[in-house]
Amino acid sequence: MPINKEKYTSIIDELDSRAVLVAVSKMKPVEDILELYQLGQRHFGENYVQEMTEKKSKLPADICWHFIGHLQSNKVKLVAPFVYLIHGVDSLKLLQEIDKQAGKLHKVIKVLLQVHIAKEETKFGLDENELEAILNKNQLLPLKNICIAGLMGMASFTGDTRIIENEFRQLKTIFEKYAQCSFPNTQFQFLSMGMSSDYRIALENGSNMVRIGSLLFGAREK
Ligand SMILES: *Cc1c(COP(=O)(O)O)cnc(C)c1O
Repeated sequence: MPINKEKYTSIIDELDSRAVLVAVSKMKPVEDILELYQLGQRHFGENYVQEMTEKKSKLPADICWHFIGHLQSNKVKLVAPFVYLIHGVDSLKLLQEIDKQAGKLHKVIKVLLQVHIAKEETKFGLDENELEAILNKNQLLPLKNICIAGLMGMASFTGDTRIIENEFRQLKTIFEKYAQCSFPNTQFQFLSMGMSSDYRIALENGSNMVRIGSLLFGAREK
């Protein structure tokens, strides 16, 4: 299926540099990614390690690769050499592993902590207590090879826009609370929220990074 160029242009206009567009290309071929790249898109998001590393090897080097899936600790070393931003960090253990692998490469890897805002049990992420437990000065101090660059969240899968709005608003409030604090190796910059179905609501509620797949690339096969 061809990519939706008109939609891409209209989303870029709509974002109007208020938010970074991460084009979510999971399960889509490199040809589609290249087409969007040729229109100027540079930020792409992938959910699976092997898929991302394979695509990375076949595509232009100036693409910023966002890992937006659930990253297993034992796979961190595969993405560490090139990943631009890891969105879904939801444990101290994973944070420490990213720090370790980044250290070996003498670099700093930017990450977002994933906060659980949806009602559904199935979605990954930290609740507010767990987030607070991670954002601890002594604990973060030795992690010199990571930068916690903000938060990421996913709203409930529902047609009820008030629920979605509430969840995004809640995440924005948490973001602002911690953005004012100063933690070691932390510099809040990105609030990653909003997907194809709810990115407008996310933007209205303070998102500055949206992750959009199916609107650009068409529906994914299950
Ligand atoms: C797949 C995915 C997206 C994109 O979803 P669309 O509905 O296709 O826009 C965004 N964020 C995450 C975490 C995803 O897994």
